[in-house]
This record gives sequence, C-alpha cells and structure tokens, in this order.
Amino acid sequence: MSDHRGTSVDVVVLGAGIVGVSAAIAVRQRGMSVILVDRREPGSETSYGNAGILSSGSILPLNKPSLWAALPGYVTNRHAALRWDPAWAIRNIDWLARFLANATPSRTRPRATALHGLIGASLKLHREWIVKADAGQRIRETGWLKVWRSDAVATAKEEQAFLAEYGIESQILDRQAISALEPNIVPVYKVGILHTQTASVDSPGAVVKAYAKMFADSGGEIRQSDIKAIAPDGEGWRVLLSDGEISARHVVVALGPWSADLLRPLGYRVPLAFERGYHREFKPNPARSLLRPIHDADGSFLMTPMEQGIRVTSGVELTARDAPSSFAQLDAVVPVACEVLEFGEAVGEPWRGARPTLPDSLPMIGPAPRHPGLWLAFGNQHIGFTTGPATGAAIAAMIDGAAPSFDVGAFSPRRYL
Ligand SMILES: Cc1cc2nc3c(=O)[nH]c(=O)nc-3n(C[C@H](O)[C@H](O)[C@H](O)COP(=O)(O)OP(=O)(O)OC[C@H]3O[C@@H](n4cnc5c(N)ncnc54)[C@H](O)[C@@H]3O)c2cc1C
Repeated sequence: MSDHRGTSVDVVVLGAGIVGVSAAIAVRQRGMSVILVDRREPGSETSYGNAGILSSGSILPLNKPSLWAALPGYVTNRHAALRWDPAWAIRNIDWLARFLANATPSRTRPRATALHGLIGASLKLHREWIVKADAGQRIRETGWLKVWRSDAVATAKEEQAFLAEYGIESQILDRQAISALEPNIVPVYKVGILHTQTASVDSPGAVVKAYAKMFADSGGEIRQSDIKAIAPDGEGWRVLLSDGEISARHVVVALGPWSADLLRPLGYRVPLAFERGYHREFKPNPARSLLRPIHDADGSFLMTPMEQGIRVTSGVELTARDAPSSFAQLDAVVPVACEVLEFGEAVGEPWRGARPTLPDSLPMIGPAPRHPGLWLAFGNQHIGFTTGPATGAAIAAMIDGAAPSFDVGAFSPRRYL
C-alpha cells in the first residue's frame, strides 16, 4: 500500500464527474502529471443520472424571457415542471432575484451566444473522445425530439428561428411526421421540433467511466478518497484527503453541486443553487422501443432509451441540495409517460441529482480571482453532460498558458467572486 503523503504532481483535479474527468484528460493530453480524486467511482453522481442528451440546441437557459409568462403557473407549487421550497426561497431570495433579473431579452442573447460557443466545442470533443474511449457504440446520432400536445406551431417555429440564427438545424414535425419518426409512441402530439444535430448516449455514467479509463490509460492517476480541504502551500497547493494529502502546482475544483463547500474557507461565497431532478427507469417493451430522447413540453418530462430501460426524468425542484427527496414530480409524470409509451415495471430505485446553477445559468470556467493555481470548473446546470468536455479542455488550456478553443469571457469566475 502506498502512503500518498508527500505525493506531488502538476495538477490535482477534484471531482470525477464529466467535468473533472474531462479536465483530467485534457491536462494529461498537454503532458502534465495529473491525479483525479473522487470519493466515488467516476461518473457516479449527477453525471450518472442525467438524461444523456448531448444537446446542440440548449443555448437558452431556464431563466429566459418566457419564464415570466410561466411563473404564475408555478406559484401554487403544483406544476410538474418546477417545484420550490418556500423556506429555501426565503433563505435564498438574493439568488432568486439575481436568477430572475437575468431573464430579460438583453441579458439572454449574450448568454445564448456564450453557451453556443461552449456547446459547439464540447460536442466536437465528445464525438472524438467517445470513439477513442471505445464507447462509440453508446452514442446515437438520432437527434432529440421536443413535442407538444397543444397546437404549439408558433412556439416551435419561434424556437426554430432562434436556433437558426446560430446555425443550429431543426425540423418542425406534424403528427404524421412524429409517428413516422417514433412509430411506437401513441400519436398524442400535434407538433414537434427535432434537433437534428443533437446526439444522446445510452448510459452517461458508463461514458464518464470510459473517459476516466482513457485518462488512466494515458498515464493519469485516479484516487478514490474523500476531499477534506485545500490550502495554499508555497507556490502551489495542498489537498487534504481522508487518507493522506497531495501537493500540486494547480488544483481544479470540479465538484459539481459540492463545489461551493470547499471554496468557502478560502473566502469565496459562490452563489450556487441546486435545480434538483429525479429519474426512474422502466423495463422496455422490446416491441415498443424508443429511438431517441423525447421531451414532452406540456407534460414536463423527458423519456430517454437507456441501456437499462426507459429513463423518465422530471423537471426542476428548487430546494436545499441535501433536503429529503420528494417524488411528487416523478409520481405526476410517470403515468403520463406510460400512456405515451408502453413500458414495463420499474427497474431499481428512483434516483435524485442536483443541477448546479449560478444566477446567470453560465458555468464558472477559469482562475479563482485571489488564489494563483486555483481553477474553477462547475455550475454547468442542465447541460453539464453536454458541456463537460469543453469546460475541462478550457481549464487545461488556461493552466498551460494557452487560449481555449472558444470564448470563455462570459464564464469568468470574477463575475461573482
Ligand atoms: C435530472 C437531470 C437530467 C439531466 N439531463 C442532462 C442531459 O440530458 N444533458 C446534459 O448535458 N446535462 C444534463 N443534466 C445536467 C448534468 O447531469 C450536470 O450538469 C453534470 O452532470 C454536472 O457534472 P459535474 O462533473 O459538474 O458534477 P458531478 O457529476 O456531480 O461530479 C462531481 C463529483 O464530485 C465528487 N465529490 C463531491 N464532493 C466531494 C468530496 N468532498 N470528496 C470527494 N469527491 C467529492 C462527487 O462524488 C462527484 O462525482 C441533467 C441533470 C439532472 C439532475
């Protein structure tokens, strides 16, 4: 057994979700020595339970102008799309106010532009890495279908026009076209929009594990250990673990929803909130398979065909990260999903995760303002599985003194710290 006290490397990456694993791969590709630390196996938390969509078109965050029209529907706390804990809302009124203040047209377009750059760079890396990591069989280039039961042609066309401004392709579908694409769902949807450049995977957790193996095969080290604290140490950093410590020139904080905790003792108060979400998987009916993820816009749920079965994911629950689970949203949407696609009994237990979100719905990607050698890579909200690779690659470039492949200006940690 090796005692890791005194181990010294160029870079320690904290957190082995999609963001941390990606940072570790990219730093290693630049020839630096790297240790990747997580208390669990890579890809076991938020990066495990998501809907597996590699979304080209998710450039509009939740706090966009149309949120205002939807708000009255959320006030009574019965909507499947959004539930909120009043006590949490009072304690976090400042975060809520800042989140809502961003939902204006003038503050939305620059964020969409920034996210478009991040997403484009990331999809390129995913498509390259998934093959290199021997997980190419997990990706499906079948797009992502958003559907409405209501007569939402105008909404779909508006969405299409907006995406087209960024060169993102989509197709508007009527009932017949939806049935032609997904013959096994009940034809309850009047209108759909197919995001043709979007891909999906059949197990996001397995993809992260494959990426982590690729990192280890390239000479990187993975340590399973609880991270207790980080402290500046001369020119570099000391990372205190439950079973030892590591010295490094650079530390990357990629702890997803746990990132703010570790930074507080250093004087950084990160305004990170948690858009919690749930999933449950069901045995597929082999005669009624689904070919791509489907987002039921009126029903506020997603169905994705996964390795284990049909994964139904719920909307947003705004509450404390570690508050007890409430399955109300999942319980509301599962029967609706079941009416659309015939599937069998549940597989395993319901899963809960927390999308880490800053008030402007943009991640932090860059150096911590007051601590040289400390790098922040978190806050990837609803699209972290998509955007993890480019988030990590940008951090690696900056550590190496190089320019990232996309404009990271909007993601600077300085905007909040
Ligand atoms: C219901 C739902 C559906 C989603 N669907 C999609 C989707 O379809 N497409 C998409 O792009 N995104 C989706 N997302 C968002 C996406 O899953 C997240 O943004 C992304 O997984 C965040 O990755 P991460 O690496 O930042 O965090 P995580 O994957 O949570 O990784 C953080 C890691 O830090 C580790 N850690 C934390 N604290 C410590 C400590 N003290 N010591 C050691 N280790 C520690 C954890 O064990 C964990 O492995 C969805 C999210 C949810 C909840």
